[in-house]
Amino acid sequence: MAEPLQAVKGMNDILPPDSARWEWFEDTVRALMRRYGYLNVRTPIVEPTALFVRGLGEVTDIVEKEMYSFVDSMNGDALTLRPEATAGVVRAVIEHSLLYEGGKRLFYIGPMFRHEKPQRGRYRQFHQVGVEALGYPGPDVDAEVILMARSLWRDLGLTDVRLELNSLGQQHERQAHRAALIAHFEAHADRLDADARRRLHTNPLRILDSKHAAMQPIIETAPNLMDFLGDASLDHLARVRAALDAVGQPYRINPRLVRGLDYYNLTVFEWISERLGAQGTLCGGGRYDGLIEMIGGKPAPAVGWGMGIERVLDALQEAAVAVPAVAPDAYAIVPDAAAMAGATAVAEALRALGLCVVLHAAGKDGPGSMKSQFRRADGSGARFALIFGAAEAAQGMVGVKPLRDATGQQVLRPLASPADWAHELRNA
Ligand code: ATP
Ligand code: MG
Repeated sequence: MAEPLQAVKGMNDILPPDSARWEWFEDTVRALMRRYGYLNVRTPIVEPTALFVRGLGEVTDIVEKEMYSFVDSMNGDALTLRPEATAGVVRAVIEHSLLYEGGKRLFYIGPMFRHEKPQRGRYRQFHQVGVEALGYPGPDVDAEVILMARSLWRDLGLTDVRLELNSLGQQHERQAHRAALIAHFEAHADRLDADARRRLHTNPLRILDSKHAAMQPIIETAPNLMDFLGDASLDHLARVRAALDAVGQPYRINPRLVRGLDYYNLTVFEWISERLGAQGTLCGGGRYDGLIEMIGGKPAPAVGWGMGIERVLDALQEAAVAVPAVAPDAYAIVPDAAAMAGATAVAEALRALGLCVVLHAAGKDGPGSMKSQFRRADGSGARFALIFGAAEAAQGMVGVKPLRDATGQQVLRPLASPADWAHELRNA
């Protein structure tokens, strides 16, 4: 026998019955996007490496050490499996002049790839849903995208997710803060770890993000970006806060929330689950008014977020949120091959009327006994068994037996006219 092969480490198969949770999540997301007027966008999984280097910033975790980059041996192109989708969406928006007639509200769902150490909530292929609202400068749209995530928690029945908020101001404000930050950390250079020392002059803001315990005291006393913001930036933040207050959404201002990527300005936020510990950030995002220009488009403002689907599903499981069961309406039992043609015709007619019907199929040992077919019917979760037995067929009938109701009696229904009795199988 050939040596069995295994999936790539950190990349998971999503199999039934678990895949039902994913489908339910995706259905819920799509319904939400329709309610807010966000349209679906699907960009390639592979993009030119330069897109991410330019878009995310060279001194970021992703570009420094997490990208699946390779050279296409057919033509020498430098390519990368997308580690996130914002850069690709922005590329597509520019390439197809989508902002020509004004703003666009977009969403995506799909796999992302990062070469990280696999652990709970951290995989090498993982999945995100994300929104991008492009061409709108106002804080009203910042609040809109934040509140979309809140609606999603409600639709899913997920509780105990808290909101953290910060403002990164504008570039000139960050420059002034950056100088103060570098001076502060230089004064405590002996306390910095290797990562921080390397970032001191390239990306000092990211040092605030460090989880290193020994560095916490000097991080806590570091100059606060909020003190460097001018009136326009403070007003933007105040208006986002007013919108959140207006709907009673609590939040905490976290001055250390800087997000992992260089492209953010003004509003940044994270939704964090209390149930997942270290990998608790379910959704993170913010405003990125400079990115479109950085990728070669005409300057335009934008705001969005990305959400880790694995983490949301994990939080739902921790919260014991039950996923609506998906079971067929009926399971067709066909004890004799001679009855198969008739059973197929009835099943097709019922499906055309919108019912879910599973037709018993013979395995390698044949169709199996009546008893084993009933066991399958029961295991499928179907509410009814349809019995295409020889005795029933002799009368032109099919047996209809309720499986979930112990008092329910089997009845006979005409084989020739399923449309007349299909309603009896429908979920009340
Ligand atoms: P972290 O700080 O946990 O590494 P990040 O800042 O790298 O997160 P983002 O780039 O903002 O994450 O991605 C948005 C969301 O995608 C995260 O909040 C998280 O829910 C999810 N996510 C990110 N990386 C992974 C991964 N390797 N595996 C599973 N989910 C992930
Ligand atoms: Mg990360």
